[in-house]
Amino acid sequence: MNRRFEFEPIGLCRSPYTDKFGIPRQPRLVTAAEARIELLPPYDREEAFAGLDGFSHVWLLFVFHQDCLEGGWRAQVRPPRLGGRDKVGVFASRSPYRPNPIGISAVAQHGLERQGKRLALRIAGADLLDGTPILDIKPYVPYADAIPEAEGGFAHTRPQARFQVGFSAQAHRQLIEQDADGRRRLRALIEQVIAQDPRPGYMDRYPERRAFVVQLYALEIHWQLDGDRALVTCVRPVPSTSVSKTER
Ligand code: SAM
Repeated sequence: MNRRFEFEPIGLCRSPYTDKFGIPRQPRLVTAAEARIELLPPYDREEAFAGLDGFSHVWLLFVFHQDCLEGGWRAQVRPPRLGGRDKVGVFASRSPYRPNPIGISAVAQHGLERQGKRLALRIAGADLLDGTPILDIKPYVPYADAIPEAEGGFAHTRPQARFQVGFSAQAHRQLIEQDADGRRRLRALIEQVIAQDPRPGYMDRYPERRAFVVQLYALEIHWQLDGDRALVTCVRPVPSTSVSKTER
């Protein structure tokens, strides 16, 4: 039996998540995140999507291409859902660090869009890093894929929003400058990303750390924690020399 398989991406995901810190841990937790799958030739053909308009959601199969490809899998992982303390087996988790670093996400689809020569599928609510290679797109079929009686183990319920998010006067002004026509839904996006607590699970052990930065599009979003309130203090372009960051 052939034990090696070679696949090529059919497209690349273009999402607001230009850094891993801030990406929600599952799809549809941040519904304001609008993204698209830019199809690569020879898959950029409308006829390959004929019939999809009747489906509200699609499955994306993708490669965890950042930091997960170099044999980085572990038999046990510490899911953020368990506070980053307790371990479970990799096959009982949705960790990106797996023997074959392939992800699956069900997201809303909003149809095809052609810009010049480029064809893209518009999606919302993804949990994918910008630039993620997409291996396949399949319709979400409710009668087969939704299992109302399913048990969710240690992740049974949808995580609740953890923080109430507000904006300083300066951040509010900057937000309007950066999203003057509201097309990027920046305010809702920032609120939803921070509300779900993007910090690593172990951060609860460091209550003295209260200042954080997430990156969305080419913007740095600075915020500070005070109990269950998060105040966004600054929304500014990423300095051109900046490298990826988690928290400061
Ligand atoms: N829904 C998918 C699944 O269950 O297979 C992904 C779940 S995984 C827990 C979600 C995390 O994967 C995100 O929070 C982000 O940190 C990470 N991630 C997303 N896109 C990635 C990429 N292209 N490369 C590496 N990590 C990525």
